[in-house]
Amino acid sequence: MDRGTGPAVLVTGGAGYIGAHTAKALHGRGYRPVVFDDLTSGFREAVQWGPLVEGDIRDADALAETIKTHDIQAVIHFAGLIEVGRSVAKPDLFWEVNVSGTTALLTVMREHGVGQLVFSSSAAVYGQGARGPLETIAETADKAPASPYGDTKLAAEWLIQAQCRAYGLTAVALRYFNAAGADPSGLIGEAHEPETHLIPLAIAAALGDGPPLTIFGQDFETPDGTCLRDYIHVSDLAAAHVAALEAGLAPGAFEAVNVGTGQGRSVAEVVEAVGRAVGCAVPHSLGARRAGDPPSLVADPRRAQEVLGWTPQHSSLDTIVADALRWERKPCYGSGVRGPKGRRKSQIAV
Ligand code: UDP
Repeated sequence: MDRGTGPAVLVTGGAGYIGAHTAKALHGRGYRPVVFDDLTSGFREAVQWGPLVEGDIRDADALAETIKTHDIQAVIHFAGLIEVGRSVAKPDLFWEVNVSGTTALLTVMREHGVGQLVFSSSAAVYGQGARGPLETIAETADKAPASPYGDTKLAAEWLIQAQCRAYGLTAVALRYFNAAGADPSGLIGEAHEPETHLIPLAIAAALGDGPPLTIFGQDFETPDGTCLRDYIHVSDLAAAHVAALEAGLAPGAFEAVNVGTGQGRSVAEVVEAVGRAVGCAVPHSLGARRAGDPPSLVADPRRAQEVLGWTPQHSSLDTIVADALRWERKPCYGSGVRGPKGRRKSQIAV
């Protein structure tokens, strides 16, 4: 397949962090990504590998028009609200966008004969449950979301699975662990506003572009007392979406698959890795636990290998941090942890 001449794939939310990396991966495999995004949290500048259609995921007419105009053959669905804290304050909004938006998309797909979907789900569907702090999480683990955000991801999975049974849709829900890093090209990367994630905040602190990092809790039941997470390079995540499209599942099949490495890394280890990459210790203080943070979230990644033939290739902690650092030093869009668009204190000549 030549680059960009293969089947057209609708990427809802394709101007966001994982969506933009997936559009690039699709293009690299010869697909034609068509991004559908309302740009409320995504960036126009992140859409570089195909057309952008500006629209709201709940707008069935706009979705239908896009599917017809671009001859869409499959959909990768990222569009939705993602901030866990905000979901606690505004659960109705999260249900409206994440669940009603998915319903609108599924209806339009059925009406237009688009039979393949990859859905952006989350490890937030699991919650801590009765799991020990060092246990990995298999897909069959109890579902006990700790936030309305997690509730909406699980509800959307149920809706999708029901459509597979009822109408023969083929779908894969990818349950992400901690997406991190940036494309090695430096063209796209992580740009959340406000930024709340550990790696960009630790880098900003080390570069002097942000306040000292606060480590949330050091009294967890983990080897060094700080939280364990499973950090997965965003380019590996993007590759998992392409693998899900190409998994060759039968019509009507539904699979929910973890996307992680199986390796837990502690907050203290991440802070050390950032210090090594930047060449100076990360200024930090020790703070209280953040509400709702489970001690550990680490994937059992075996099913992704079985179903998708996918394993991570770029997810060593040092590679993730090096790629994140390249982006944070020179972001192409987003206002960053602090300061005006695309400019960091560490970039401003003195
Ligand atoms: N974390 C921290 N300080 C921060 C941000 C995050 O100690 O300023 C910790 C957080 O408690 C969690 C880990 O870093 O244990 C990863 O948090 P992040 O927000 O990046 O992702 P999450 O696991 O919440 O999806």
